[in-house]
Amino acid sequence: MQTSFPPPSERSRLRRLPAQASYRPDDIEAILDAAYLCHVAFADGSGVHCIPTVCWREGRHLYIHGSNGSRMLRSLLDGSPCCVTVTHLDGLVLARSAFNHSMNYRSVVVHGAFERVGDDAKAAALDLLMDHIAPGRRPHVRPGDATELAATTVLRMSLAEASAKTRTGGPRDDAPDLGWDVWAGVLPFSQHREAPRRDEDGPASGTAEPSWWLGR
Ligand SMILES: Cc1cc2nc3c(=O)[nH]c(=O)nc-3n(C[C@H](O)[C@H](O)[C@H](O)COP(=O)(O)OP(=O)(O)OC[C@H]3O[C@@H](n4cnc5c(N)ncnc54)[C@H](O)[C@@H]3O)c2cc1C
Repeated sequence: MQTSFPPPSERSRLRRLPAQASYRPDDIEAILDAAYLCHVAFADGSGVHCIPTVCWREGRHLYIHGSNGSRMLRSLLDGSPCCVTVTHLDGLVLARSAFNHSMNYRSVVVHGAFERVGDDAKAAALDLLMDHIAPGRRPHVRPGDATELAATTVLRMSLAEASAKTRTGGPRDDAPDLGWDVWAGVLPFSQHREAPRRDEDGPASGTAEPSWWLGR
C-alpha cells in the first residue's frame, strides 16, 4: 500500500503499525468495492449502536439505504456524526509464539456524517446498488415503482475522511522463537461462491442463470 497520502484528519491517523495504513483513495475504494456490507456506528438518545447494512460506492461517496422507518437511517438523517467500517478477513496467521498470532485483512474506516440523497437522484443511486450486487441484472427485473421509491431512504457519506489498513504475509516471529518446533504459517480465507440455485416459483424461462457468479 502507498503511504504517500497523509491522513485526512488527526482522528483518521493510524498509530499502531502505521506502515499497514493507506489514505490513498484508490486503496480505500478497492476495499469498499469488494464489500457488500459495512457496519455503521452512531449514537442516539438510547446509546451507541453499530449496525450492519448493505453498502455501495459511487465516486467519492459511500451509500446505504433502507426503509424510511429504520431507526438507524432516521438517526443519521440529521447529519449526526458516525463512523463506518468495512472488513475483509483474508487469513489467520499462526505464529510460533502465542503473542505474535495475527490475522490478514483489508479494512476501511470512514469518519463523517451521512446526507440524504434527494428524490431526483434516489432512483439512480438504487440502480447502482443493483449493479453492485448483480451486474447486468437491472434491465431484466421489474423496476421499482413510485410507492417503493417513496418508502426508501438513501443516504450517502463522503469518503473525504477515510483510512485503510491491510495486513498480508506470514507470521512475524521474534528471532529467538524461529527455532520453536511448531507449525507456523497462514490459514487463508477467500469468499467461496457456490452454483446459483433457481427459485422454483414462477416461470422456468427467463434470462439465463447469472454465470458471472462463478466466473463462467
Ligand atoms: C480482522 C482484524 C482484527 C484485528 N485484531 C486486532 C486486535 O486483536 N487487537 C488490536 O489492538 N487491533 C486489532 N486490529 C487492528 C485494529 O483494527 C486497529 O487498527 C488498531 O487497534 C489500531 O489502533 P491505533 O491505536 O493505532 O488506532 P486508533 O487510535 O484506534 O485509530 C485511529 C484511526 O485510525 C483509523 N483506523 C484504525 N484501525 C483501522 C483499521 N483497521 N482500518 C482502517 N482504518 C483504521 C481510523 O480512522 C481510526 O479512527 C484488527 C483489525 C482487523 C481488521
